[in-house]
Amino acid sequence: MTSPEAKRLWRRSIKEHFDCTCVYCGTTYDIHELTLDHVRPKAYGGANTTDNVVACCKACNQEKGTTNWKQFIHKYSNPLREHLILQHIN
Ligand SMILES: [Zn+2]
Repeated sequence: MTSPEAKRLWRRSIKEHFDCTCVYCGTTYDIHELTLDHVRPKAYGGANTTDNVVACCKACNQEKGTTNWKQFIHKYSNPLREHLILQHIN
């Protein structure tokens, strides 16, 4: 997982895992429009590993920032999406 190509494939596999859908707002995007979000922010010691990284749109990523993801997703009040993230990170 060190070469740029391996990283590219890794990022792609995460987005595909989430069906190119933002885990927070549930909107589907073109794979190139999606970003990756660290569920536990890197600033708080979150790891750059598959179980801490989810697909997320630019708007949500920017808005979430270093907010706790549970607090952030709460505004969408969608238990299904919360469950999806919990499953992924556990
Ligand atoms: Zn979003």
